[in-house]
Amino acid sequence: MQLRFVGCGDAFGSGGRVNTCFHVAGQSVNFLIDCGASSLPALKRLGIVRDDIDLILITHFHGDHFGGLPFLLLDAQFTRRTRPLVIAGPKGIETRLAQLMEALFEHSSGTKQRFDLSVIALAPEEIRSFGGVRVTPYPVVHGESGGPFLAYRIEAEGRTVAYSADTEWTETLIPAAREADLFIAEAYYYDRIVKNHLSLVTLEAHLPEINARRLILTHMSDDMLGRLDSLPYTAAHDGLTVEL
Ligand SMILES: [Zn+2]
Ligand SMILES: [Zn+2]
Repeated sequence: MQLRFVGCGDAFGSGGRVNTCFHVAGQSVNFLIDCGASSLPALKRLGIVRDDIDLILITHFHGDHFGGLPFLLLDAQFTRRTRPLVIAGPKGIETRLAQLMEALFEHSSGTKQRFDLSVIALAPEEIRSFGGVRVTPYPVVHGESGGPFLAYRIEAEGRTVAYSADTEWTETLIPAAREADLFIAEAYYYDRIVKNHLSLVTLEAHLPEINARRLILTHMSDDMLGRLDSLPYTAAHDGLTVEL
């Protein structure tokens, strides 16, 4: 199984990076984690076959994680996708997706898809399986708007991938990422502690307890991007591929 960082940027294109979107593909699974506004051109640039994607997991409703869905869905419609697609995310996703479609492409939310589209709300700590993908959502802390916010622990093909989503430090990240084969964690700032986002020094204090086999930092501000050469961690970049 392989995970590709289609995009690992923040909301503001820091470092010229594309909004959050990770693509996971294996023998029997093919899914996206988040679909930020710039995801469709980024997927096309990497030659990722959108028709093979069965599932899109959304962590929250900020544009840099969720805003790419209308482009992806309309593209699927116009390119005559036939394969069913599941979009799963926090409570309210059905309404939020319809509102987003309407805001970006008027009347698009009422269009009947040519393919079977299921939009599914996930509840914190309720395990759901989609084909060979087992998903456990954990509630995280990321402010007042754009939520609910979910981190994901995802098991597929004998491997575990955890993604913190955007969040300030919260204890739920420990069960979400404990002993994961790969923990993708937000590291927005290095040592500046702010509300709603995770700083690397805060995360560092909890890494022994989390004990993930591999850590990759994502969603970095210019502050973090400027320090990467001096830090002993792997940081994502757009296009980075990880074998799991
Ligand atoms: Zn974000
Ligand atoms: Zn966010």
